[in-house]
Amino acid sequence: MARDVLTTDIRGQFILLGTGTSVGVPSIGCPCEVCASADARDKRLRCAALVGLPQGNLLIDTPPDVRQQLLREKVGLVHAVLYTHEHADHIFGLDDLRLLPFYLGHAVPLYCEAIVEDRIRKSFDYAFSDVEQTHTGAVPQLVFHRIGLAPIELLGATITPLRLKHGPRFDVLGFRIGNVAYCTDTSGIPPESLALLEGLDVLVLDALRPRPHITHLSLDEAIALAGELKPKRTIFTHMSHELGHAVTNARLPVGMELGYDGLRVPLT
Ligand SMILES: [Zn+2]
Ligand SMILES: [Zn+2]
Ligand SMILES: [Zn+2]
Repeated sequence: MARDVLTTDIRGQFILLGTGTSVGVPSIGCPCEVCASADARDKRLRCAALVGLPQGNLLIDTPPDVRQQLLREKVGLVHAVLYTHEHADHIFGLDDLRLLPFYLGHAVPLYCEAIVEDRIRKSFDYAFSDVEQTHTGAVPQLVFHRIGLAPIELLGATITPLRLKHGPRFDVLGFRIGNVAYCTDTSGIPPESLALLEGLDVLVLDALRPRPHITHLSLDEAIALAGELKPKRTIFTHMSHELGHAVTNARLPVGMELGYDGLRVPLT
């Protein structure tokens, strides 16, 4: 029997659950101005997005902050999880999905590439153990679905995965859903993926900090890339404490802005 669930209707909305880099902003022990800022937009949890699709809510990544992110957005139901990649800041909130099977009536479907499944099976080995559990709900109930670069039908929508380079060693996925695309954790977008990002209404794009970084786009690199792709609106994410919201936002070209936790854009 599925339990009652408290949730809100987010159909048609794409929600940035977190916009911070892997250590979050404020960062532990940091005395800088941005970490001390009173501006709510300078409080950045780890990156994830929540998408209200026609047949349910799709969570993109399960960062360590996912519990407070779902509580903040008053969304109690997630029907499927889609992963960009296997880094700690994108998977380590997975245990907090333990309650979902009580509401869904079945295990939580996880859509990811093989490398992500391998990492999740290692990091959350107790969820895949043969040992009988002491009680229902003791461990997350999960079922994997393999994805690649082919478009997938999920919860009544077509989602197009696209390859992103995340430094020299990591190949990760971005996703296009209609005319909205989510491209976090990237240092460069290959030409075949750029071709899939034409004609966007909204591009959410990695922009770590002013200085270059080996696995992320700098703000200037992200601005240049957005200038080439020309989406109607570009929203930067995965930001470090080197990008204060108000000061940085005021300097960005027209049509570009820094994201912030809780920002909602319509799916188109
Ligand atoms: Zn990350
Ligand atoms: Zn700081
Ligand atoms: Zn990463």
